[in-house]
Amino acid sequence: MDSALKKEINNLQGFLDASTSPFHAINNVKELLVGHGFSEVSGHDNWDSRTNRNFLIKDGSIVAWVEADNLPFANGFRILGAHTDSPNLRLKPLQLLSSSTFGQLSVETYGSPLLNSWLDRDLGISGRVIVEGDPFAQVLFSSNEAICRIPQLAIHLDRDVNEKGLKLNAETHLAPIWTDLPADSLAFNEWLADQMSISSRKILSWDLMLHDAQESTILGANEEWLVSGRIDNLVSCYAAITALSDFDVSNSETIPLVCLFDHEEVGSVSSVGASGNFLSTVINRIMSGCSLESRAVAFEKSFCASVDGAHATHPNYPERHDLNHIVKLNEGIVIKRNANQRYATDGIGEAFSKKICVNSEIPFQIFANRSDLSCGSTIGPTTAASLGVRTIDIGVPQLSMHSAREICGVEDQQHLRTFCQSFFSS
Ligand code: ZN
Repeated sequence: MDSALKKEINNLQGFLDASTSPFHAINNVKELLVGHGFSEVSGHDNWDSRTNRNFLIKDGSIVAWVEADNLPFANGFRILGAHTDSPNLRLKPLQLLSSSTFGQLSVETYGSPLLNSWLDRDLGISGRVIVEGDPFAQVLFSSNEAICRIPQLAIHLDRDVNEKGLKLNAETHLAPIWTDLPADSLAFNEWLADQMSISSRKILSWDLMLHDAQESTILGANEEWLVSGRIDNLVSCYAAITALSDFDVSNSETIPLVCLFDHEEVGSVSSVGASGNFLSTVINRIMSGCSLESRAVAFEKSFCASVDGAHATHPNYPERHDLNHIVKLNEGIVIKRNANQRYATDGIGEAFSKKICVNSEIPFQIFANRSDLSCGSTIGPTTAASLGVRTIDIGVPQLSMHSAREICGVEDQQHLRTFCQSFFSS
């Protein structure tokens, strides 16, 4: 790995390790944007006197964009979209669970995690805690250390697990142990309050989740792979936001915009999800001085790229793939096609994506699923439907998608960053 790539991957690893929940991801994106001269606007205020580089945060989602004094809105937008959430295990609101031998945490699944990947890992807790304020305030929380673990049943008590497969019940088999003290209804609140150096009476509620406490690492005989939690989809968030923060808009003909949404892994239907009106409201507010006619023209001239993880061809399960559409790590970005609109790319979108790749010397691969397997999806079809903007689905290949620890190629991060930058000026 050359030194420039190593530096870029180190920065990405810092972002991945520090973004243990969507709220932390948004906070880290905010710091990056502020460091590049962006200002936060409030949804409550009038935006007439805004600067040219702005962002709006709504819980675990953000929209950031760059305007220029002589850049007409009617030329449209170049929109890069990704998601901040990852499948995981989340803490239920009441923590009263115990056995005769352990104090345990009560959890539920979020999205579609590979449950087995959460076993026998050292797990931390992170998210946001809602505390007393005026009327309340939200505080980011992350346990600095791993504090809990979901122990797998020993082979001696489950003799045929390797032959018959591991079956996990989400209610009964996933409760982590976190203390051997006798359980008590206030124990978790008091531990949390102690960690936050506040009184437990101040804690009103939380959105807390588990994360693998092991940091990301580089793997492979030639340092070719990045291994981390939340690769799906924080690598796309990072590529999009760094491309935006470095983009020189002075020669641009369109407005570059990045939207990072929470709740993609559970279907995007929420007030901050891609199915809601968060993005369209921001765009309409940006163009508030324009006529309905020029707004319609702007949407018609816009293009959206939904950036999300893609499946690399698994070496141990080639029969799960369409082998005419092989995808390899470190062989370039993936253009995703699906006739049933699980991915938004159509023929024109594929041609548009290929042009960007060829012009910027980015290697690319085309993905299509096996016809007899159902396909995953992204925010692409959702934003395409809600905005009426032509959309493409692209991303970097990975293995172990939805595992607590996923793997992707280091060189593909540079390919994705270059694609994002070129997309803004396409
Ligand atoms: Zn994803």
